[in-house]
Amino acid sequence: MKVLVTGGAGYIGSHVVDLLIERGYEVVVIDNLYTGHVEAVHPQATFVQGDLLDHARVKDVFEAHAFEGILHFASHTLVGESWEKPWLYLRDNVVAASNLLEEAANHGVKRFILSSTANLFDDPENIPIVAEERIVPGSPYGESKYMIERQLYWMERIYGMASCCLRYFNASGAHPDGHIGEDHTPEYHLIPIILQVALGQREKLTIYGDDYKTPDGTCIRDYIHVMDLADAHILALEALADGKSRKYNLGNGKGYSVREVVDMARQITGQTITTEVGARRPGDPDNLIADSTRIMQELGWQPEFNTLPHIIETAWNWHKNNPHGYAGRK
Ligand code: UDP
Repeated sequence: MKVLVTGGAGYIGSHVVDLLIERGYEVVVIDNLYTGHVEAVHPQATFVQGDLLDHARVKDVFEAHAFEGILHFASHTLVGESWEKPWLYLRDNVVAASNLLEEAANHGVKRFILSSTANLFDDPENIPIVAEERIVPGSPYGESKYMIERQLYWMERIYGMASCCLRYFNASGAHPDGHIGEDHTPEYHLIPIILQVALGQREKLTIYGDDYKTPDGTCIRDYIHVMDLADAHILALEALADGKSRKYNLGNGKGYSVREVVDMARQITGQTITTEVGARRPGDPDNLIADSTRIMQELGWQPEFNTLPHIIETAWNWHKNNPHGYAGRK
């Protein structure tokens, strides 16, 4: 089965490509390399450097290959940036997806997996957050993913394209054999920042607020291993053979505070990891924990790396061996 992976040179996309190839899929990756790394793309994948905003380029890819499925990761993904540059999100993320969907529909593709987000749930009525929770996007980023989810609704009704929206909580960790991992410049995510402190690349971690309504005052998040996410994508792609669209939340159902993550990283790295408490980061909810029961029951998804030590160990293995990310390997 041949699939197109947009953003396949990025953090989550590259881990999904790796697992797809391991499981026998034929993979074409399109990525503009603004944030991705060509070194992260599995050598057996066909790599196309291109931007989804370039509609002609997207069309060429569909003319050159017959895809049975699309996995769409290519996107601006930073909540904070989306407040400062909303059009990167409300326009570019949405137009990129529209170009992709138009070509997918014109070429008869019937399966589409969307990399969506927990940022759809800014005001949850219940924690853990079930797939049926009401949608309240927390930023232009979350809104852009919701706008794409709505496009998918119409793709199904008009073209019979089945889709699966996977709303991730906090993706983290790295491939257990250490050949790919997380490499963002600049880095904004908690676990890699903590590990940069452990490596001496940063002086300290600034904890964004300790006056949240949580036991130790710092925000609670549900960290999910990138390989478990990758596995969920492939299960979803296979399940869409029945033509039914679905939406799933993906997390481990267990939350850890920022302080708990730091403490665990201290144990695993053996480093002190200096912290200071700073101001809150706008838009951070107190507590985000996923209820992933639906994907477990419907698709038999069972996370393998579902403990915080396992997540931090694989991330540490990557960061320790690649302190300057992919660039340091050249
Ligand atoms: N965080 C922090 N300091 C940092 C980066 C993140 O205290 O330098 C906190 C952030 O406020 C949130 C948690 O760590 O509560 C996870 O943040 P991240 O950016 O990794 O993921 P998000 O929850 O925004 O998807």
